[in-house]
Amino acid sequence: MHDTDTHKPIASIPLAGVIGWPVAQSRSPALHAHWLRRYGIAGAYVPMAVLSEHLGQVLHALPKAGFVGVNVTIPHKESVLALADVVTDRAALIGAANTLIFRPDGRLHADNTDGYGFMANLRQRAPDWAPEHGPAALIGAGGAARAVVAALLEAQVPEIRIANRTRLRADQLRAEFGARIVVYDWAQAGNMLDGAVTVVNATSMGMVGKPPLRVPLDALSPGALVTDLVYNPLETAFLAEARARGCRTVDGLGMLLHQAAPGFERWFGRRPDVDDDLRRAVLASGP
Ligand code: NAP
Repeated sequence: MHDTDTHKPIASIPLAGVIGWPVAQSRSPALHAHWLRRYGIAGAYVPMAVLSEHLGQVLHALPKAGFVGVNVTIPHKESVLALADVVTDRAALIGAANTLIFRPDGRLHADNTDGYGFMANLRQRAPDWAPEHGPAALIGAGGAARAVVAALLEAQVPEIRIANRTRLRADQLRAEFGARIVVYDWAQAGNMLDGAVTVVNATSMGMVGKPPLRVPLDALSPGALVTDLVYNPLETAFLAEARARGCRTVDGLGMLLHQAAPGFERWFGRRPDVDDDLRRAVLASGP
């Protein structure tokens, strides 16, 4: 062990990962591994199962071990804001973060890229979609719905109609996001589709293991763009029925792929492409 080489500093490779509880179901490690391989970047992205009570300690320690940032997922997306030193405007507006950057000055930077991923997916898969031309109908008012509302308002959507099983959560969105939000009763969710240019399922209904979303689609116009945030299965019963009614449909996988791109760029220094190769790699990685 007296070789002079052993005294040379060992260059560290950038590390990133995803923190959640549980985290085994996350597709993010497969997604980032694909990009790292494709661009020949020496780096790694690992899943980390972390309990809420350990989140602060873990975030404090990771930069010391060579981590440049992490994604956070359920149940840490909201609580991480209180631990961050810098919160972007969009993360503050949404009330949650999914992308953290460990800055060289030691500060923890928190951003939310879900709304960006939602828009980038629709713009890529339906390039002539013009959300500003008419109302959007949003089913659900949970964390993901908040990111969708912020993104649609920024895209100049004139009105966002929201129905949620727990009406109070939809009312809270109206109180926070303002007069362009119109709340419908859950039992009236089908009526809000009338004349909607954009229709979004932001509930977890229709996901594998959950009952399908049961909103009547009779009022849906064939010109509407219909999307589902659920991506397992890739085509939910909701999307299949909308497609059968002549609507253009976009699955939720692209949102997952696009929301990951800003983090990858900040951590590993290259803006990655979201294309069919990536979709295939991520689909092949999970059930
Ligand atoms: P969340 O905060 O837990 O919200 C869940 C939403 O689903 C709420 O609106 C909830 O209504 C509704 N819901 C749940 N069970 C229901 C039922 N039995 N009947 C009617 N409504 C029900 O979750 P989230 O983070 O917003 O995520 C929502 C979905 O989006 C999940 O499937 C998630 O995987 C998906 N997502 C996808 C992406 C992507 O990149 N594609 C990103 C984020 C999230 P209540 O308020 O009444 O409970």
